[in-house]
Amino acid sequence: MISYDEALTVAFRTATSVPRRAVSVPLLEARGRVLAREIVSDIDMPPFNRAAMDGYAVRAEDIVSAPAELDVTGTVSAGTMPTVNVGPGQAARIMTGAPVPSGADSVVGVEDTECRNERVTVKVSLPVGKNIAPQGEDVRKGDVVAVADTLIRTAMLGLLGAAGAASVDVYRHPEVAVLTTGTELVDISQRPAPGQIRNTNILTLRALLADTGIKCRELGGVPDDIEKLRKAVRKGLGSDVLMVSGGVSRGDYDFVPRVFEEEGVTKIFHKVAMRPGKPLFLGRKGDKLVFGIPGNPVSTFVSFEMLVKPVLLTLSGDSRHRPSFIKATFTGGRARGSSREQMLPGILSAGDGLPHAKTTEWHGSGDMRGLSQANCFIRVPGGTNPPADGDIVEAHPFGAFR
Ligand code: AMP
Ligand code: MG
Repeated sequence: MISYDEALTVAFRTATSVPRRAVSVPLLEARGRVLAREIVSDIDMPPFNRAAMDGYAVRAEDIVSAPAELDVTGTVSAGTMPTVNVGPGQAARIMTGAPVPSGADSVVGVEDTECRNERVTVKVSLPVGKNIAPQGEDVRKGDVVAVADTLIRTAMLGLLGAAGAASVDVYRHPEVAVLTTGTELVDISQRPAPGQIRNTNILTLRALLADTGIKCRELGGVPDDIEKLRKAVRKGLGSDVLMVSGGVSRGDYDFVPRVFEEEGVTKIFHKVAMRPGKPLFLGRKGDKLVFGIPGNPVSTFVSFEMLVKPVLLTLSGDSRHRPSFIKATFTGGRARGSSREQMLPGILSAGDGLPHAKTTEWHGSGDMRGLSQANCFIRVPGGTNPPADGDIVEAHPFGAFR
């Protein structure tokens, strides 16, 4: 059985060997995706010497010995180029965002002026360049504003749009087919009969996929019937990635690894020394990747977050993605030792210095309530004593850390 770190390394190696393809998408849809080609600005930013305040465009030399009285020769508003020129003893009324007229080299805020009959008294003296954002200060025409392989974040969208990139080349997202297995499963809208279980994994996996921005092809659920499973797996192998929930352990009805093999899937690993999530399977058929994800709901979540998601993000072009671990002070909760590395549902909160991490009350891989309060997994190495209060631990934050 391989360790979590080994599984991650092998999974990344596999994912990076699948060829990436670029697609052109409208800029807004590029958020959260990875640039396949650099973006070059087709303009200067600012595109002209821009007034940063509402006030008067003046010549700094005219107001050296303020107060000074100047003739107002016109008004410049945003959206048009000025027709006025500011000569000695003159000023132009100007609005924020408007181009500074020629002759002027400083903008005085309206609150430092008094205007009567097109004569303005400027009450302060200002240095050259005050309240003017010079043309090209931020970006020059022809500058690369984002290199290839950049992950496009919300904070970057405005810049790319301003650079003229109305659509951009990003790496294609994989299509991910999701299949759940288990004769006991019923839809969440139903009340389970004795022996039945509501199918929550389909919900969780769809939501986790949505959080990554990757589309889900839902294949529904199949009972633990080898032929029905085979048919569904064949269908799922039409997508770039197939995720099958359940049936991947060693029970009499756990047919998934066998069906994968019979359908030409080569095993990359099966079983990871991780708790929860041990039965996780990764396989490959050509350029298609196949996951067998343990059916226990917390195992499903941990498996996706710690191993499946990194692979999907890599397939989406983000070759630098790694699950992040931050150091935290353990502040208690229920933790016991295990020979396997543990990912314990925990709560991470701000502390003095290091953040604090405590485990939720959690009863094992089936306990969704223990997971529901968590915003991190506390990583406890295998074969060590459980952490004690005050120990430094590693925690992986997930979802929104708040
Ligand atoms: P399995 O991985 O198929 O051996 O299932 C392990 C446990 O997880 C069993 O208790 C199943 O009932 C439960 N389980 C399997 N699939 C799901 C699912 N889609 N939603 C909720 N629980 C599930
Ligand atoms: Mg099952």
